[in-house]
Amino acid sequence: MKVTIVGAGLAGSEAAWQLARQGIPVRLMEMRPATMTPAHKTGDFAELVCSNSLRGAALENAVGLLKEEMRRIGSLIIEMADLHSVPAGGALAVDRHAFAEAITERLTQHPLIEIEQKEVQQIPEERPLIIASGPLTSPALSQSIQGLTGEDYFYFYDAAAPIVASESVDMSVAFWASRYDKGDADYLNCPMNEEEYDRFYQALIEAEVHPLKEFEKEIYFEGCMPVEVMAKRGRETLLFGPLKPVGLTDPRTGRRPFAVVQLRKENRQGTMYNLVGFQTHLKWPDQKRVFSLIPGLEQAEFVRYGVMHRNTFINSPTLLHPTYQLRKDPNIFFAGQITGVEGYVESAASGLAAGLNAARLVKGKEPVVFPPDTAMGALPAYITTAEAKHFQPMNVNYGLFPPLEERIKGKRPRQQAHAQRALRRLDDFLSTL
Ligand code: FAD
Repeated sequence: MKVTIVGAGLAGSEAAWQLARQGIPVRLMEMRPATMTPAHKTGDFAELVCSNSLRGAALENAVGLLKEEMRRIGSLIIEMADLHSVPAGGALAVDRHAFAEAITERLTQHPLIEIEQKEVQQIPEERPLIIASGPLTSPALSQSIQGLTGEDYFYFYDAAAPIVASESVDMSVAFWASRYDKGDADYLNCPMNEEEYDRFYQALIEAEVHPLKEFEKEIYFEGCMPVEVMAKRGRETLLFGPLKPVGLTDPRTGRRPFAVVQLRKENRQGTMYNLVGFQTHLKWPDQKRVFSLIPGLEQAEFVRYGVMHRNTFINSPTLLHPTYQLRKDPNIFFAGQITGVEGYVESAASGLAAGLNAARLVKGKEPVVFPPDTAMGALPAYITTAEAKHFQPMNVNYGLFPPLEERIKGKRPRQQAHAQRALRRLDDFLSTL
């Protein structure tokens, strides 16, 4: 039985390799170079569209752990990245041309991989199928996928607010409450007095923003306004928007604060909170500087910064199993950025898992879910259980992992303990396969 894959990017290339190395024939469909995306420049598979860095290499960084796990499983993307790495301090950066060319060559020369270079306009009929057409899926295919998922569960851009580690919030300042005490106290409130608000407001309107790419300009017309753009409309605007203090009383003063930033739990375990209404296009160092002016967040650890991109992704909490199979048709897998994972390595990791599971399906075996305390497992666990209504793409970070069994002081030792636990679990898990 042959597996069809749409898209030979980071995810599709990795999935194709995982299938072929297990002796399963693959039809890999890629539209470039005949039809290009607005960001790709070549016809090579696994082209890195922007930075040439696969981010941190050390295990204290969750993306470093993810790479090590993929290395242990036999990832093509990581093998080629290691082979074509260039010096980059603590990061794994690559010679992008040599990297993509080597992957293209490996896949095109594999006797079990048949390459079809054309735009896929309709979801193919063949099964099993892996859809890995990426953040810039062509418009015709996007429409076809929307037909499968339903319009409400398919998005054309992301607008993610920053996320902080819950243990880094100063709880002597922040307080739990819902406006007018309605319902449960679902929000963690960071109160500001007028002076604190003015300092924050000034820093916000003066902060530096990322320049918008030409193909991203439509985002702001889609009804999603960055917090800094809203702020520039006037000093009062935020006070009637995301920072409105009505219905809240600061237990420290017994009075209504001048302004309030609300945080909401980002995952079930409550290890991460997002800043409600703070979708932003600010540069990352400016996000750290400006948002750390919010009372209670002075020492906050930002596990993800806010981003706004042109992006194609589906509502995975509603649609996918953690095996990357579509709930309503387990013969269809999604992989890569389109599932709501964010980043080169995360996209390749999901392609790896989807490829392994498609291979198991062909062999009549049950698809597997990676343990949630590994990076390979934490990502799908998050994208398939996050709150569906507010779902936004996510990169790998230690906030996604279940808490450690023992309490460890200090961020670095804690991250090292996470990494050691993950690698032990992964080795045990792989030995059972
Ligand atoms: P891709 O690598 O984009 O692969 C999808 C493939 O599907 C492409 O080759 C595309 O040509 C093909 N395709 C699309 N539609 C069709 C169709 N209808 N028929 C056939 N083929 C089709 N992540 C980082 O970690 N670092 C960065 O610096 C970074 N920069 C980014 C910059 C931009 C502009 C964008 C859009 C994203 C960026 N990302 C970055 C996010 C993301 O990690 C990458 O886009 C990554 O390549 C996603 O992997 P993927 O396999 O899901 O998609």
